[in-house]
Amino acid sequence: MAEFTMELNDEQKEVRDWLHGFAADVIRPAAAEWDEREETPWPVIQEAAKVGIYSLDFYAQQYFDPTGLGIPMAMEELFWGDAGIALSIVGTGLAAVGVLANGTEEQIGTWIPQMYGDASDVKVAAFCSSEPDAGSDVASMRTRAVYDEAKDEWVINGTKTWATNGGIANVHVVVAVVDAELGSKGHASFIIPPGTEGLSQGQKFKKHGIRASHTAEVILDNVRVPGSCLLGGKEKLDERLARAREKARQGGERVKNAAMATFEASRPAVGAMAVGTARAAYEVALDYAKTREQFGRPIIDNQGVAFQLADMRTSIDAARLLVWRASWMAVNGKPFTAAEGSMSKLFASETAKKVTAQAVQILGGNGYTREYPVERMHRDAAIYTIFEGTSEIQRLVIARTLSGMTIR
Ligand SMILES: Cc1cc2nc3c(=O)[nH]c(=O)nc-3n(C[C@H](O)[C@H](O)[C@H](O)COP(=O)(O)OP(=O)(O)OC[C@H]3O[C@@H](n4cnc5c(N)ncnc54)[C@H](O)[C@@H]3O)c2cc1C
Repeated sequence: MAEFTMELNDEQKEVRDWLHGFAADVIRPAAAEWDEREETPWPVIQEAAKVGIYSLDFYAQQYFDPTGLGIPMAMEELFWGDAGIALSIVGTGLAAVGVLANGTEEQIGTWIPQMYGDASDVKVAAFCSSEPDAGSDVASMRTRAVYDEAKDEWVINGTKTWATNGGIANVHVVVAVVDAELGSKGHASFIIPPGTEGLSQGQKFKKHGIRASHTAEVILDNVRVPGSCLLGGKEKLDERLARAREKARQGGERVKNAAMATFEASRPAVGAMAVGTARAAYEVALDYAKTREQFGRPIIDNQGVAFQLADMRTSIDAARLLVWRASWMAVNGKPFTAAEGSMSKLFASETAKKVTAQAVQILGGNGYTREYPVERMHRDAAIYTIFEGTSEIQRLVIARTLSGMTIR
């Protein structure tokens, strides 16, 4: 087990500087354009693929870094560049992790390369869990997958919503109900291969922020996939369902809501994205406050402004520490006895929302215009308190973990 450290090693520093260079030279200059266009920034993803940032190899290297700091460091730098573009770059990773975590070796080898494509023909992937009536309450999911034994095929019907890269993805990973009696324990994940009949894009959402990231509904109308597309395989699923049915029969264990109980390990990564956006806005505000003069002196010469900057930086550093701690715990298999993953995501996302609002205030009228990036950063920051579990759901998870009570 790696000791917890608050300092990046030389190799990590090198990677961080390289990512920072890409974020500063390629992502940041493109941010305003793709925000206005509200389209997937394919040329930027392609640049990221060319240098090796958009690839499973890079992602896996950071993911398996024993210090736990690889992913948070990478996320912070990319999202410092721009949240919408960075999400277009790392969004495929959500689906890839779904396959890595639950797939067989053959599924990993077959599907992950098709999720990324290559630098001359980049592809993206989508992870589709949320539905119109099943957001925080994942157990209410309605999309059904029924096994057609005669053909060894699964037939999937339902509507997914809010899917990052939904409809434009080469490979979709779809979560569906296979046993409605078991709540979220009766869910399974399926690969929907490229060009599968019956899968179509529904509404594409026009969003408040992260507008360079594509978010859409995904309609599944009698989608048929081979048995080999069930992640983990049928045998493993049957065993898992049998265990869950047995527990339900014993009546003891309440079938938990997956959105509330899991994701502890992936939440620090979202916290790190929030730290990146917050740091970006803070830096713009600090520079501005030092150069903008009113009443014959820089505005930072007023405690009212300087103290805000002091608070902003303090919150950002505190958020990063919570994120690094939780990420180290996740990689080293430490139990989250106080929901430390949720804590990190809660604090970092609320910090990003607050700090970007303070940055707009410090830039005054300029902060309110699209001439300055803090306006976009403020819109972008709102997403962190919503996806991967809202702030209220994080508080629920933390409170339940601490108290052992069913808090509503
Ligand atoms: C831009 C974007 C990208 C996304 N990408 C993906 C993706 O790639 N794949 C995917 O599957 N999903 C994705 N999502 C979905 C996201 O995870 C959900 O929006 C989120 O889980 C919240 O669900 P909801 O929107 O249905 O809100 P709801 O669950 O309806 O919540 C509405 C409000 O009620 C509160 N609330 C709900 N239940 C409780 C409770 N028990 N106690 C207290 N408060 C409560 C919530 O905190 C929230 O404030 C994305 C969403 C967005 C906006």
